Amino acid sequence: MHKLSIVSEQKPLDALYIPTPLVCEPIMHIWLMKEAYEAFYRLSRDMQDSGLSPVLGARGYQCFAYQKKLYQNEVQRLIRLGEKSINAYEKAKTHIAPPGCSEHQLGLSMDFTLYKQEMPNDPLKFEATNQFLWLDKYAKEYGFILRYPKEKEEVTGMLYKPWHYRYVGIGHAKKMEKLNLCLDEYYEAFYSH
Ligand SMILES: [Zn+2]
Repeated sequence: MHKLSIVSEQKPLDALYIPTPLVCEPIMHIWLMKEAYEAFYRLSRDMQDSGLSPVLGARGYQCFAYQKKLYQNEVQRLIRLGEKSINAYEKAKTHIAPPGCSEHQLGLSMDFTLYKQEMPNDPLKFEATNQFLWLDKYAKEYGFILRYPKEKEEVTGMLYKPWHYRYVGIGHAKKMEKLNLCLDEYYEAFYSH
């Protein structure tokens, strides 16, 4: 699978797609493509050297079946809150991608958190951390990009997620930042033809 692959509702992955080679990250026990893991290892080491407690990987590779479970749980949660089931399926998509539609299935995406016990879910809180400021400045040096930026919600179709980073490689990451393009725009501009 190409490092720049777009995964979305319009471009879902096959239920049987499993990236390879996957490796297990030893602290949080998430799985990642080897190249993404090695980049993350360097990133977290350097973040620590700069005096910050390094971000942890709360989510990495997620298989189709697990994504299905997450999505269905979100639909059920919304229904319990009073949403009609026909709306709940649509509304759930703005938070959790349906099975096959999450780029976590590529093994190239990570959700960062600061604490082992905490799944990231509050954009304002994560955005206010020194670790986020550090990532904002340096993630590209390790080949990671902020995949769903605040000002690109209309383009990506996803709500702003300051903790969700995607490994694309250093060259692409730097070029995207320089051109102020999110992955969808970058792919469309240079690789779709
Ligand atoms: Zn994510």
